Amino acid sequence: MKRPEAMSPAGRGPHTFAMRLARILSRATVGVAAPEVFVEVHLGGGLPRMSLVGLPETAVKESRDRVKAALETSGFEVPQRLVTISLAPAELPKEGGGFDLPIALGILVASGQLKPRHLESTEFIGELSLGGDLRPVRGVLPAAIRATAAGRALVVPEVNQLEAGLVRNGQHLYASTLREVTDWLNNDRPLPPVGDSQALAASHELDLADVVGQLQARRALEIAAAGGHHMLMIGPPGTGKTMLAARLPGILPPMTENEALESAAVASISHQGLDLHQWRRRPFRAPHHTASGVALVGGGSRPRPGEISLAHNGVLFLDELPEFSRPVLEVLREPIESGRIVISRAARQSEFPARFQLVCAMNPCPCGHASDSRGNCHCSADQVQRYRQRISGPLLDRIDLQVDVQRPGLSVIHAQAQPGETSARVLARVTAARERQLARSGVPNGQMDVADTRRHCVLPEDARRLLEAAATHWSLSPRACHRIMRVTRTIADLDGDDEVEARHVAEAIALRCTFSRPTQAGPAPTLAHYIAAPHENGKLIAP
Ligand SMILES: [Zn+2]
Repeated sequence: MKRPEAMSPAGRGPHTFAMRLARILSRATVGVAAPEVFVEVHLGGGLPRMSLVGLPETAVKESRDRVKAALETSGFEVPQRLVTISLAPAELPKEGGGFDLPIALGILVASGQLKPRHLESTEFIGELSLGGDLRPVRGVLPAAIRATAAGRALVVPEVNQLEAGLVRNGQHLYASTLREVTDWLNNDRPLPPVGDSQALAASHELDLADVVGQLQARRALEIAAAGGHHMLMIGPPGTGKTMLAARLPGILPPMTENEALESAAVASISHQGLDLHQWRRRPFRAPHHTASGVALVGGGSRPRPGEISLAHNGVLFLDELPEFSRPVLEVLREPIESGRIVISRAARQSEFPARFQLVCAMNPCPCGHASDSRGNCHCSADQVQRYRQRISGPLLDRIDLQVDVQRPGLSVIHAQAQPGETSARVLARVTAARERQLARSGVPNGQMDVADTRRHCVLPEDARRLLEAAATHWSLSPRACHRIMRVTRTIADLDGDDEVEARHVAEAIALRCTFSRPTQAGPAPTLAHYIAAPHENGKLIAP
């Protein structure tokens, strides 16, 4: 197995020189990107030593010791030469143990212990144990996506194989030890291909049928799902706000394959790693109000995605909204608009996707009972106002639906025989409405820009007057008015109407304004009958 040139103190001539240099392909993790990295290994004269260059971080530097031990325990020679390992391009940050396998292979090829085969068409990623086993690494999915695009196979640790198997048309392989990889290259013993894990089924077990009553909140949830609108629920504790929010992912249109891969790629590089049971399920993230800024938006010395990115293509639920620290909430404003977050850390920037649907819940007052008809609230008007002011105007401005969730009346509790409508039925309406939107503007209504909003939501005269009256009455900002128009468009889409009508606008206004500014004078009389209009089977009954 050992070749003479591997053991000679210095190779000579062009023939042996080729053997002293090896290049193995691998991938780094930068945000959700996985740029190509060339692991180059050179054997030179001088004292036996292993030196690692190319901006490696601590975990990568430790790679030297792991690789040395793994080579020995797998029955190979560690060259008694100056071994220079370069991770190129040098300016890319390198982290984690994923370079162990390519480094080990590079040393073996450079020292003539391994045939330099398949190296142009294969990439390698994996951490080595001291015993030569391949251990799982983070970021396998982004690497597998990029390797597929480059037309190469990726060799991954066995534990990561299902993750690599999410990529369609990939020809990726897995191994559980270094020895299996070297047997493939030296002796043609084939490595098994990763399985196709696309078939993992998605199912949402939480069903809206569990929610009894709450017609207005259910209606708002359906509109939020149809148009991808952000939503705030305000109501006393125990009224089912969390229960409603947790059922939103189940009535959102199914994820496209691209969306599923994007969300899985974020999970793949996160602290928790990718949970394959979540494949094709819309994320639902509910961070606690004590969560730090870094936990919420991402960061750290090696930037990791935060909750807003883990909620990408899904739902970010913030319960007890006023309890979140205000600076943390303010950071949300930017990704709400742009759908992404850029984290700058010293000289390096990481970008993560963050197109989440924001759903918040809060009590109406510090004690929670202000809107309760039982009259249990003893908070002063001043206390209530201070409580609500913890949420900044600009953040509230970006929340399209602000709805009142009341304690269900006794009649509902007694009428247990009638369960709520199932998620499947609501989903059918949501999907039809969403298809209209995508056909019209290419995005859900909640993401339309101002120009598209004006183009696709042309208000007839009576509707325009209604919106103007509301804007004056509640001192609405232009942004708030545009958001009302987007919701109006969604309500019309749920009705299957190409043109928006006054009743659509009235409902959109009612779903935004009736609660958020309760300390001012009551509703404008012209709106009163619209706002009080009842809902039945998810439809507003026209006054
Ligand atoms: Zn109170």
